[in-house]
Amino acid sequence: MLGNQPIIVLREGTKREKGKNAQSNNIAAAIAIADTIKSTLGPKGMDKMLVDTTGDVIITNDGATILKEIEIEHPSAKMIVEVAKSQDAECGDGTTTAVILTGELLKQAQDLLDQHIHPTVINSGFKIASKKAIDTLDSISIPLSLTDVKLLEHIAKTSMASKSARSAKEHLAKIAVSAILTIHEKEKENIKVDLDNIQIQKKQGAGIEKTEMIKGTILDKKRSHPDMVTHVKDAKIALIDAAFEIKKTEVDARIQIQDPTQLQAFLDEEEKMILHLVQKVADSGADVVFCKKSIGDLAEHFLLKKGIFSIASISESDMKKLAKATGGKIVANIDDLSKKDLGFAGNVEERSIGDEKMIFVTDCKNPKAVSLLIRGSTEHVTDDIERAVHDALSVVKLAVEDQKITAGGGASAAEIALVLRNYSLTVGGREQMAIESFANALEIIPKTLAENAGLDPINMILELRSEHKKGNKYAGINVDKGVVDDMVKLHVVEPIRVSRQQIFSASEAARMILRIDDVISSKGSASSMPSGYGSDVGDFDE
Ligand code: ADP
Ligand code: MG
Repeated sequence: MLGNQPIIVLREGTKREKGKNAQSNNIAAAIAIADTIKSTLGPKGMDKMLVDTTGDVIITNDGATILKEIEIEHPSAKMIVEVAKSQDAECGDGTTTAVILTGELLKQAQDLLDQHIHPTVINSGFKIASKKAIDTLDSISIPLSLTDVKLLEHIAKTSMASKSARSAKEHLAKIAVSAILTIHEKEKENIKVDLDNIQIQKKQGAGIEKTEMIKGTILDKKRSHPDMVTHVKDAKIALIDAAFEIKKTEVDARIQIQDPTQLQAFLDEEEKMILHLVQKVADSGADVVFCKKSIGDLAEHFLLKKGIFSIASISESDMKKLAKATGGKIVANIDDLSKKDLGFAGNVEERSIGDEKMIFVTDCKNPKAVSLLIRGSTEHVTDDIERAVHDALSVVKLAVEDQKITAGGGASAAEIALVLRNYSLTVGGREQMAIESFANALEIIPKTLAENAGLDPINMILELRSEHKKGNKYAGINVDKGVVDDMVKLHVVEPIRVSRQQIFSASEAARMILRIDDVISSKGSASSMPSGYGSDVGDFDE
């Protein structure tokens, strides 16, 4: 107020919510999102049927997929979706847990706020707790050796336990592990796995058990000429990034031809040049040509006559995969092509898959790129298998890169909760309460697993706590028998990075939401919240 004159800062119609109200609303919205997907957690979790505006149906229990499909309005709820998104981008698995954990941290924070604990104190307590939690996770992790294929398969199976693909998980786990072990690369001390080197193709019409890994590449293409052979054994492959055609000039050039002999000479010259290119390929010893650009009719004819199998117009990414798989080099100038540039594949063949034709480049020696051909009876099945395989590949990749695993089934969360409770005593003050609340929040993981398995969550948590107090740090929820059990013995194991990222991003998001004490929303914004806030949501990298 200036004298009696009110100062108007915000535009007319702007809504504003301050202090406790703003905080509670944000927290409530975030908790609502977490509650929506809670029932899908774990092997006994339920599925959600999502119907979009056009009536398309997705049935899934994949947290990332659910949050991607449903339309969320509230901005702080959108921040929770960001948690799922970052979990998916960093780890490819564990999204449901990350969201549930964020929701529970906020629920615990709300209790503290109700007891008049200042958000700043909660914030710093959560920060201390999350650091301690991540350190503890590291100290209870188990080293993994890359030769332990069985253990890697258990990691894959744990990630698929909650998917509809679980009936075929033995088979899919074997495929995922061998794919990752085939393509992993050493970079100095570190092991790197680039999932881009695993190509995934889906074709419905056969059982899941027909899903296979191919040491090579699958091209969604046909032979360029029907007279061409359908199968080349021990193929020597030229990878070419140039057209088998006489280049058209950039400018319109016109050649004046006065008599028929000149025309013939011109055509002869063109033929000679094309023949020269084809001869170059033949001289290199290649019997297969994969070409990124086009192959003209004349070139096709000569290639066919020389018995060279050729495919044109292959995408850049497929060319790269072919190079990695066959060990060949992509050559830009056909004149430079020589024997040492050629790649190798035991078989190059056109196969019929369902009612379509595809080119299989298989049995490559030491491939650094492989393909998975996913089969299932219907499109819904192949889509869900793809999601399951994506999770399996992701976790095996993380395990191979970090070579550290942790116990699943809520075991790690329960152990960290125990450590945090003891630790909070040494911190004291009001932050102690926040650290204890963080510990309580972590227990939402075993609690929800138990609840979804139809067990009594309170009893299970009490039993779990007592086992951990006795020193059983791998004790978690055996969802099949309904008892507390050693998760490592049950082979319920996960790569360390999944839990680490969950704790990290859940606590970051919860703290960010807690710091907000003022929500100013411009007139007309759909959610009556600031526009642009948390936008661009729902775009997952899968
Ligand atoms: P998320 O999206 O968080 O990965 P999931 O539905 O895949 O959610 O469930 C993952 C949780 O299920 C993890 O806590 C994992 O440890 C647990 N889990 C997986 N298999 C088992 C099992 N056989 N017994 C108990 N818990 C399991
Ligand atoms: Mg999972």
